[in-house]
Amino acid sequence: MKNAPADALQQVNQRITNACQQVKRPNNSVTLLAVSKRHGIDKIRAVYASGQRHFGENYLNEALEKQQALTDLPIIWHYIGSIQSNKTRKIANHFAWVHTVDSLKIAERLSNQRPKDLPPLNICLQINIDNENSKSGLLPDTNQLTALVDKIIALPHLKLRGLMCIPELKADVDAQRVTFSRMQALQQTLQQHLQQHQRKQTLDTLSMGMSDDLDAAIACGATIVRVGTAIFGQRN
Ligand SMILES: *Cc1c(COP(=O)(O)O)cnc(C)c1O
Repeated sequence: MKNAPADALQQVNQRITNACQQVKRPNNSVTLLAVSKRHGIDKIRAVYASGQRHFGENYLNEALEKQQALTDLPIIWHYIGSIQSNKTRKIANHFAWVHTVDSLKIAERLSNQRPKDLPPLNICLQINIDNENSKSGLLPDTNQLTALVDKIIALPHLKLRGLMCIPELKADVDAQRVTFSRMQALQQTLQQHLQQHQRKQTLDTLSMGMSDDLDAAIACGATIVRVGTAIFGQRN
């Protein structure tokens, strides 16, 4: 049991390798984000020691405490939780990536509050791809999204990298792929829109796939998979 996180990490990396091979994608085209919410810093250290560098957190106060305790490690921190307006300053100060931007207002605040001595904050727009009432995110409406993208790419201290989703739970791999393919198509539509308007910005990130569906997500172009349980075990 002593090497449990290390073994689990290796298994997840092997799943990523296999999923890439199946669709002839290079292995390094997918980044593993280890989702450490509600897991302690000892486990984070163990996973870091096995080579993992990108970690994701959902709860701001919990994340800030862990960051304080782990300042000796050059971890790349991703914020993947819901965002209230009064939290944007801390998020803009303490993370390299934010996956859950779902309004212009939040994007503007993050840009304004990003410290000028840090590189632009990498962001993804969260898409409510299954139109669920219970989930936040932007609806997959091409016209509304292109209008929003045009405004967001003009913000000076953000770098729009792409789209993120948390789909409905689907046990069936074919159903998972249908949803992820819709995300991929949406991303391509937005990319074409940017090209047609001579914007040099490229959308290079699709943040999708978790412990149960990362293989289907990779088949549909995911470039970041966000994995918690399969690395760290059940959450407390
Ligand atoms: C918790 C969480 C994950 C990880 O989910 P697992 O099923 O534990 O792999 C990924 N993305 C988001 C946004 C999460 O909140």
